[in-house]
Amino acid sequence: MNIHEYQAKALLREFGVPVPRGIPAFTVDEAIKAANELGGPVWVVKAQIHAGGRGKAGGVKVVKSADDVKKESSRILGSTLVTHQTGPHGKKVNRLYIEDGSAIDREFYLSALIDRETSRVAFVVSTEGGMDIEEVAKTHPEKIVTFSVDPATGVMPHHGRRVAQALKLSGDLAKQADSLLSKLYAAFTAKDMSLLEVNPLVVTKDNQLICLDAKVSFDGNALYRHADVVALRDLTEEDEKEIEASKFDLNYIALDGSIGCMVNGAGLAMATMDIIKLYGMAPANFLDVGGSATKERVSAAFKIITSDPNVKGILVNIFGGIMRCDVIAEGVVAAVKEVGLKVPLVVRLEGTNVDLGKKIIAESKLNVTSANDLDDAAQKIVKAVKETA
Ligand code: ADP
Ligand code: MG
Repeated sequence: MNIHEYQAKALLREFGVPVPRGIPAFTVDEAIKAANELGGPVWVVKAQIHAGGRGKAGGVKVVKSADDVKKESSRILGSTLVTHQTGPHGKKVNRLYIEDGSAIDREFYLSALIDRETSRVAFVVSTEGGMDIEEVAKTHPEKIVTFSVDPATGVMPHHGRRVAQALKLSGDLAKQADSLLSKLYAAFTAKDMSLLEVNPLVVTKDNQLICLDAKVSFDGNALYRHADVVALRDLTEEDEKEIEASKFDLNYIALDGSIGCMVNGAGLAMATMDIIKLYGMAPANFLDVGGSATKERVSAAFKIITSDPNVKGILVNIFGGIMRCDVIAEGVVAAVKEVGLKVPLVVRLEGTNVDLGKKIIAESKLNVTSANDLDDAAQKIVKAVKETA
């Protein structure tokens, strides 16, 4: 789960992390009021969307008068920002953050994330801040320093020295780096974050180390113990189909291919996506209906898939273990009767109650192609989509 920059900064502030003063605004009037409250003389008007690269796209403006706060707020609020992270359709700006402008001397990069190879929290630090870290990794990998923290000890003084050295900080700034690192680590672990990215981390002209941007993602599996974090969720930033899926406890992720997949089990879902690729097309989604899906859940899943205009064909691939094939068949038939079927549908059923499942589909008189195994199913759906294209 992702949150906005202003929410991330408020959360980091609770852990003593230095961030500029700022006030969120949902209207231009609120933005003007926020600017007056902050007092200036320099403000930054920042679009709040769940994507980076706002600066380059015109979504972050440093201004020097309350009039300009009004001007930039009116321009940004309600507009659609297209950044290198939003995709070509961009994202509509519904919220702003009005922040104290900082006098920047140097910009750095610092992030923390879960490193699955070491099973630890890893830090990534670079002097090349404010820009695309992926680009730095490609062109100047030597300018990126990474290290991980042993969960048994937490952040140690040598980690702080490592950051100071990487960022060429000494004296009081090195001390600030050390203290910042401990606070970020505390916030990361206490809130079960999966990513905490500060780009840029800056040294101001009066030698303060502060976080000018903050992007935070949380581990979805740990949200049950963070009601305060769940309250920060902004549904307008999320894919509508994914929200609908989460209501039914379906593991659904929208992708950009054209074959909708309904599968049970994450492993089988991955294999299904792979084999679609093998036969030359791409999946429109990842969808695991789970082991104990009811007819209603299957039906909801099917409706979510068909509501995606990119879906040109559907592949249902079920291995009935705990899940019974007849339940899947009933769910599919019920959903098709309700919403209709405008694209080819291939169904492969195997396992518990497979014969009953096949019978239900056959007797429904729906235009369904049945397949015998995964290979057969993938070839059939790819062929059917190509023929209708
Ligand atoms: P994004 O990463 O989405 O482009 P940032 O928050 O990193 O958004 O802002 C882009 C740039 O704007 C920063 O690299 C920094 O140079 C400048 N900036 C952001 N916030 C401030 C601030 N409070 N004071 C001064 N400059 C800022
Ligand atoms: Mg940034």
